[in-house]
Amino acid sequence: MKDRISRLKREAGAVILAHNYQLPEIQEIADHLGDSLELARISKQLSEEVIVFCGVRFMAETAKILSPDKKVILPSPDAGCPLADTIEPEQLRDLQGKHPEAWTVSYVNTSAAIKAISDVCCTSGNAAAVVKNAPAEEVIFVPDRNLGSWVQKQVPDKRMILWPGFCYVHELFRAEDLDEARRLHPGAEIIVHPECRPEVAAGADYVLSTAGMLKRARESSAKKFIIGTEIGLIHRLKRENPENEFYSLGNARICVNMKKTTLSDLEYALKTGEPVIQIPEETRTRAARALENMINPDYHNPGAVS
Ligand code: SF4
Repeated sequence: MKDRISRLKREAGAVILAHNYQLPEIQEIADHLGDSLELARISKQLSEEVIVFCGVRFMAETAKILSPDKKVILPSPDAGCPLADTIEPEQLRDLQGKHPEAWTVSYVNTSAAIKAISDVCCTSGNAAAVVKNAPAEEVIFVPDRNLGSWVQKQVPDKRMILWPGFCYVHELFRAEDLDEARRLHPGAEIIVHPECRPEVAAGADYVLSTAGMLKRARESSAKKFIIGTEIGLIHRLKRENPENEFYSLGNARICVNMKKTTLSDLEYALKTGEPVIQIPEETRTRAARALENMINPDYHNPGAVS
């Protein structure tokens, strides 16, 4: 099947992007593997006309927003993100109406419609820098309350209004898991994702995005690591650092949506060129501005919301 996929990919002039949480066999066949920010940046620079995005819907939408002339295919069309689904555009507009002076920062884990009414997007890797850089004292931060409170600690001079959404996968890690991990693996470095609960983030050695975790594992002198994020990243960490040991914090936590894309889905998508991501042009243009503001560190671009 892998050979057939490679042949179909060549024939279609396609490139395969995969998120770090995808199934191991999808990670291995991908041309580019990364977190949301890396994949957003890569999708803009690709020369191929067809992007097959192995991830969840908001990620494929992000690729389409940034590369409107390309065909973007999401092999598993029902792979959504429950965190992204916690907020609807009317709810964000309502919040913006209550805080008219606030700058709206939306995590990249949002629909195109939410991005379209945000000033700037962020990922877990650059959220603190984006909020710090916001040209307003008050910041509406959607939709992840855990990432938001972690950012608030690092940027105390901003008044952050947090949406109460959360990622059900990261929410499952508990403070007790930290004690148990230290008992089982003394000396191991504990690294968790900022979507984890505040008490978990507070008790970890490092709070990092998935890209940050990969970097830390490469650079640290530690030999054992306890990882508090979706289990798919551990596959990549082990593959890239075979001499080190990686364990999940507590029980392995799995994002069902990230595991929906199979090799069969990928083969079908390459064979048929379906299902294609489509976004109304007005929404796409507005969302592109918020995403470009994220990718450009000097993003002061008032007027993104109109
Ligand atoms: S791990 Fe959480 S935030 Fe990421 S896609 Fe799954 S539900 Fe959404």
